Amino acid sequence: MRLLIFAVLAYLLYRVLRSYFGSGQKITRTENGGVIDEMVKDPFCDTYIPVRDAKRRVIDGREYFFCSEECADKFQKEKEEL
Ligand SMILES: [Zn+2]
Repeated sequence: MRLLIFAVLAYLLYRVLRSYFGSGQKITRTENGGVIDEMVKDPFCDTYIPVRDAKRRVIDGREYFFCSEECADKFQKEKEEL
């Protein structure tokens, strides 16, 4: 019986630690631990999008990922105006 309580506590601790350390992660994982997709940040609207759905654009020799063409256009325009 004591072992069961210990196991439950260990499991709860594991869940707490996992959610605590997992909050800052940019990689989404499935239940079995497989990577679904890498998340990239839209520098214009600060939104995280899966890399396969992101609009990729090279501006000033740097690679950026955007949630939409609109964000890419606005970001590029802003860069050019500087
Ligand atoms: Zn955006």
